[in-house]
Amino acid sequence: MSLPSKKAIQVDENTVDYEFKMLNHVMQLRYHEEKCIECGFCHRVCPVTVSIYDEPLKKTAIGTPKEMKIESDKKIVVDTEKCVWCGCCTWICPGYTLELFINGEKKLNVVENGSLPEFEEEVRTLENGQKVRKVVEGSITITCNEKDIKRIDAFCDECSVSAMERKSKAIEVDRDKCILCFKCTEAAKNYDNISVEVHRDRFKSIKGEPSSVWNGIMLRVLGKEGKVKGIMSRSQNKLADAVMRLMGKEFEEEEEA
Ligand code: SF4
Ligand code: SF4
Ligand code: SF4
Repeated sequence: MSLPSKKAIQVDENTVDYEFKMLNHVMQLRYHEEKCIECGFCHRVCPVTVSIYDEPLKKTAIGTPKEMKIESDKKIVVDTEKCVWCGCCTWICPGYTLELFINGEKKLNVVENGSLPEFEEEVRTLENGQKVRKVVEGSITITCNEKDIKRIDAFCDECSVSAMERKSKAIEVDRDKCILCFKCTEAAKNYDNISVEVHRDRFKSIKGEPSSVWNGIMLRVLGKEGKVKGIMSRSQNKLADAVMRLMGKEFEEEEEA
């Protein structure tokens, strides 16, 4: 085997390791498919972007097989040619579905170096035993003009955390359960008479004092135009863009200096 090598290893029926191996260094991004709630947060926070002109969401190193144009029966796949094993997807994942190992040790350098903060844990256990945490605060509005109750029920079933319920011909969302994800916004594209608006306003509580990098990123997310003074490196600015995308903010791509 020639090094460095990048490959996907099927560990068991539910687990895939996306591995980058050098002489004395191994990075593994582990994906536990059975826990994946298909929320889409990992897609939005991945700082690797590839411009695809006819798609509003730029392609990242992680996403659904359809988004990634990779043939697979998995809910989520990683493109090992693009992944840089940064762990941002692991940091955000509400379903505890992704883990990053560096030389066999579970590690998140983006948290250890202060680029991203650690969340205060706020875990909910679903009926199937799956643990899910809420990482953002905001609001959701569902407009339902559908008259076919079977269609409405089918739409409600799209939510992996059972936060939607049909009440007569309307849809009610349990705001406590709802993690403000992208699953129903994506699903609504297949329902002519149902629309969803999700606004992610801020992150849930974080542990300790945020670093200057995180403060800068949040300043940018909350509306400051352009690059933030104090975030000088290209990778930190890419991270800021990824966090903006995660929060659903629009931004203009700027030329890198
Ligand atoms: S963030 Fe985690 S739970 Fe959500 S789609 Fe990605 S891997 Fe699945
Ligand atoms: S480890 Fe980083 S580069 Fe790789 S898929 Fe996750 S967020 Fe993207
Ligand atoms: S109701 Fe909330 S948790 Fe359920 S799919 Fe929609 S945004 Fe996600």
